[in-house]
Amino acid sequence: MANRIRVTVWNEFVHEKKDAEVKKVYPKGIHEAIAEHLRAQPDMDVRTATLDQPSQGLSDEVLEKTDVLIWWAHMAHGDVDDKLAAKVRDRVHKGMGLIPLHSAHMSKPFLLLMGTSGALKWREDGKAEILWVTKPGHPITAGINDHFVLPHEEMYGEHFDIPEPDELIFISWFGGGEVFRSGCTWKRGAGSVFYFRPGHETFPTYFDKNVRAVIANGVRWAAPCGAPPVTYWHFKSILEK
Ligand code: ZN
Repeated sequence: MANRIRVTVWNEFVHEKKDAEVKKVYPKGIHEAIAEHLRAQPDMDVRTATLDQPSQGLSDEVLEKTDVLIWWAHMAHGDVDDKLAAKVRDRVHKGMGLIPLHSAHMSKPFLLLMGTSGALKWREDGKAEILWVTKPGHPITAGINDHFVLPHEEMYGEHFDIPEPDELIFISWFGGGEVFRSGCTWKRGAGSVFYFRPGHETFPTYFDKNVRAVIANGVRWAAPCGAPPVTYWHFKSILEK
């Protein structure tokens, strides 16, 4: 099939090896739970990458051959090489899609692209999260009803320190009373960023059919359209011979 989307699912892959509770939910790692559903899509070629691999899983060649990068991380943000984070940012500027999930709101590439602190309120109480669609008809909400429920999740609450999203796709309500902008999009250069909130490591969120559908929709939305590279800096007139 022509124009298949090349997806790389990057995960720090730390909790799943250290913490028995997390290992029980994601025995093959969070990246494999996410990749499993994407591999079943007819229009995607999917690879996974983890922090413990050479080049932290993202060599220049892998990054160059990635159309959409999914990023999950929580406790090892500081271990990601600053140069790698800058390369991810630069690839987004040139057209790559980036989907930071859940605690990737504090990941280096996301913060570089946003320019804000990414701070928010949080509480691991495992109460319900209800995600409400605020942008019906948007491609990221294809096949999703006006809301869906995750019975157990970590709470994230406003204020979420992000630049004003170009599009707000979901708002979450939590069992403790808080609300959160849980699906947000931005354009950065020629690239697209979709932040999607759910996915705490102790809950089976990445097996939920709605969450999986939103991530697959997000990949299609964030995929580059094949535009030629933009020319910057000193430029000769196109009218003068
Ligand atoms: Zn979490």
